Amino acid sequence: MGSRLQHTPASGAELTIELGVIARNYQFLRQKSGPATCGAAVKADAYGTGIAQVAPVLAKAGCEVFFVATINEGIELRQILGNVTIYVLNGLMPGSEESFADFNLRPVLNSLEQIDAWAFFARSRNTQASPAAIHFDTGMNRLGLSLSEARALVATPDRAASFDVTLAMSHLTSADDATSAMNAQQQKLFGRLLNDFNQSRPERSRVPGSLANSAGILLGAEYHFHLVRPGVALYGGNPLASGDNPMKPVIRLKARILQLRDVEAGDSVGYSGTYTAPSRRRVATLDVGYADGYLRSFSNQGQAYIDDWAVPVIGRISMDMLAIDVTDVPSALLGAGASVDLLGGPVTLDAASRTSGLSAYELLTLLGHRYKRHYVAPEP
Ligand SMILES: *Cc1c(COP(=O)(O)O)cnc(C)c1O
Repeated sequence: MGSRLQHTPASGAELTIELGVIARNYQFLRQKSGPATCGAAVKADAYGTGIAQVAPVLAKAGCEVFFVATINEGIELRQILGNVTIYVLNGLMPGSEESFADFNLRPVLNSLEQIDAWAFFARSRNTQASPAAIHFDTGMNRLGLSLSEARALVATPDRAASFDVTLAMSHLTSADDATSAMNAQQQKLFGRLLNDFNQSRPERSRVPGSLANSAGILLGAEYHFHLVRPGVALYGGNPLASGDNPMKPVIRLKARILQLRDVEAGDSVGYSGTYTAPSRRRVATLDVGYADGYLRSFSNQGQAYIDDWAVPVIGRISMDMLAIDVTDVPSALLGAGASVDLLGGPVTLDAASRTSGLSAYELLTLLGHRYKRHYVAPEP
């Protein structure tokens, strides 16, 4: 990404990413989940925040186990961090075995077929290493061994005897809602499967378990097992669907005013005239649009800030621009180049989620690469 930034002028929109806050959020989650080990989900470019900058900060904060979605993400992360454990959640695609081994990546085996393929590969390499995780599906119905596959594995443990099973995992569907009955149901089922699987194996090759994402950590100790896998909370997203966000905000996106104009009552603003001025209004055009991740769902809904002044987004979001109503803002704060908070700062991710209908996950992973990114290093 670095090379893309070199020619970005200093006067445009700017995204600030507080790496020190990511480290603090990690420490908070680690403390909540102790004595379990705290890993980190860094898929999708560390949820849009930039894996090249974020992963070393997490490693320095003590994180030794990382989760990515794809093998390409795993290869990218391996080039950033040489010595950490990297699990690839999407699993083992046929023919990718060599790449996993070459880059010291661990596949999360999602079916008996993948287990058999990895076992065959491990035997052919003639080494007991070839570490991998096994994923039991406990209700997500997305990835992982089905219940009947899990039972078949427990009945034939030799299938996984030619390689190191370093982790057994499952994933919660509804951890962001502590009142959901799914949580306890999945926790019990995973606990049983983990226990049965371990009982089927020799004592010396017992496998640690992992169930909790960010929200799962907050559900309590019985959800932690041996390793937790927070993602969104590290980057400042609220792990809970409702209630105050216990995490500290990491990102702040500021746009710049490109131009000001006054419109008369009855004038419309933007494509398709979805906003009509009810009276004479002052309108500022900003240098961020949907191509920067500020999607059309903010049209006539978003709320921005100039200093302490709340300013509504008016009209439809364009590709490269959007408009706000600055009628009530003192002129001294306006002018070409004046900066406007769009995300983060006074516009919490929770608030932006409410106005746009997008989740914090979406808002983060949509963060653009066209504006300047400013990484604030942790305090030494
Ligand atoms: C993305 C992901 C996580 C992290 O989830 P968050 O809700 O972002 O904390 C953990 N486990 C799996 C399997 C995932 O796909």
